[in-house]
Amino acid sequence: MTYDRLVCANCASPVSEGRCPVCRANRERLQQENFFANLNPMALIALLTVLIAAVALLAHQTT
Ligand SMILES: [Zn+2]
Repeated sequence: MTYDRLVCANCASPVSEGRCPVCRANRERLQQENFFANLNPMALIALLTVLIAAVALLAHQTT
């Protein structure tokens, strides 16, 4: 789903133009959703691995 054609309920302009705070909030939220939707599964696994390693390292340091 693309946000390019979404029209704001508050200002009736395309949300992608960000003319009002509602537009900007929606645009930001949709861009974040796009970011996560476009994430490569391999990148996600790599990220998870790094996270687990970091947590393990932290747990090791505190004990
Ligand atoms: Zn708006």
